[in-house]
Amino acid sequence: MTTRVFVLGLDGMSPALWQRLSGLDALPYLGRLFRHTTTLRSTVPAHTAPAWTSIATGLDPGAHGVLGFWHRPTGLPWPFSKRPLVTRARAPFLWEVASQHGIGVGVFNYPLSYPPTPVKGYWVCGLNAPQRARDAIYPASAALLLDDFKTDADEVGINLFGSRPLTNRQRQRALRALTELLQNHLTCGRRLIAQGVAEGVHLFVHVLTVTDRFLHLFWDVLHAPNHPLFEPAMAFWQALDAGVSAWLEAAQPDVVFLVSDHGFADSPRFALNLDLWLTQAGLLPRAARLSLPVALKVALKSLLPECVQRVWRHRASSVLRHSTAAHAMFSIEVLYGPWVGVTFSPGLGARERTRLSERLSQAAEALLTEQGTRVFRAVQPAAEVWQGSRLPHLPDWVLTLSEGFGGAVGSLDPRLFIPVRSVRTGDHHPDGVLAAAQPLPERTCWHVRDVAELVCNTLGLPRIESSEPDGPALLAEHDAQALTQRLRRLGYLE
Ligand SMILES: [Zn+2]
Repeated sequence: MTTRVFVLGLDGMSPALWQRLSGLDALPYLGRLFRHTTTLRSTVPAHTAPAWTSIATGLDPGAHGVLGFWHRPTGLPWPFSKRPLVTRARAPFLWEVASQHGIGVGVFNYPLSYPPTPVKGYWVCGLNAPQRARDAIYPASAALLLDDFKTDADEVGINLFGSRPLTNRQRQRALRALTELLQNHLTCGRRLIAQGVAEGVHLFVHVLTVTDRFLHLFWDVLHAPNHPLFEPAMAFWQALDAGVSAWLEAAQPDVVFLVSDHGFADSPRFALNLDLWLTQAGLLPRAARLSLPVALKVALKSLLPECVQRVWRHRASSVLRHSTAAHAMFSIEVLYGPWVGVTFSPGLGARERTRLSERLSQAAEALLTEQGTRVFRAVQPAAEVWQGSRLPHLPDWVLTLSEGFGGAVGSLDPRLFIPVRSVRTGDHHPDGVLAAAQPLPERTCWHVRDVAELVCNTLGLPRIESSEPDGPALLAEHDAQALTQRLRRLGYLE
């Protein structure tokens, strides 16, 4: 008899948050099931796309090549006008391997997993699948069960990255909409499990990404018991708890894992204006850009409509935004979590790259707060951060911001730090969660790359044998427009 395994994915969950929610009695069932949680270290960057891809494939972003929703062709600076959309890694996913070994699998709402391949069971793709694509749900009989499936927050009218904080009324509406979206996913997942059990599925992988949307928008509420939205926010988690307990009751697994792609923490209050810093350090040729005093910028920000602000944000480059002129010597990539990636312009010779690398690391180490602590905790070349053959597609350098750098910038040039105004109160943190309803193997530290092997071991499967994949799979041109619009509605695109 094969062990029946259930992998529950909660996007954005962390051990600290789990403890907090359990303590508030918001997870009466799951809190008891997963009493002991451990840290599951996310990828660099701590972003949904690379981290879920690493969980499914057991590979590092340096090997699977998925760093975000978009792919950066080698040699093109960021931002480039044409950004192909990544739909999945071209590497075997753990449930494809399980299915090849004759194990029935049931996958629900898995990000960056489109297109699905035929498996023994069902496979419902999540984020970055073209909306309403017939082939985003395998097989057709599963699609019939999901005619009311709403895939993400844009379908309930929520933009996650607006720069104008929401009014209480708007937040109330957003919370109601997210709770409905959660209910929709719980109901759709429940139907699939019933069918899966009847068809002998032994590996369930069900992911809820609505939690990430909740945590971006309502992180502050979870930490303020007197907040008017505290009760409905708790009700969201209680609904999740009840819905997942119904999933598990229906699936009757022998083994249950809880995993997340990354954790959450307070949103940064300041963004570092990297273009300006690189320019001051003599590393970025001055590009034509608007230059206004900070006070005026802040005043303008509160007055200008959102559409104008988008253009504005693009100009006022910061670590929170993709930025810099295409002709600049560097291009800078914003990596989720505390990281910033710096990419040299294509066409620089090896000598020039070495010279610039030295200057970059010296300048980064020299940037201090008024307390004399470093703004960048670490300055590393790509090869120290990632492993694999996709390095040429990734940024050349990764700078890691010290925790809470924004609060202690006092005497530094105030233009370097831009106050952040955002609808988001929570943002990605590198520490996700791993828990099991049974003892986990002893290990000092878990990484998202380890999950695939852990699950394969539990199922009695061999390790996934994966040769270096040939880059991620990209979305066909004719499907790209609709998906681009959707990512724009969600706020991922300016
Ligand atoms: Zn995520």
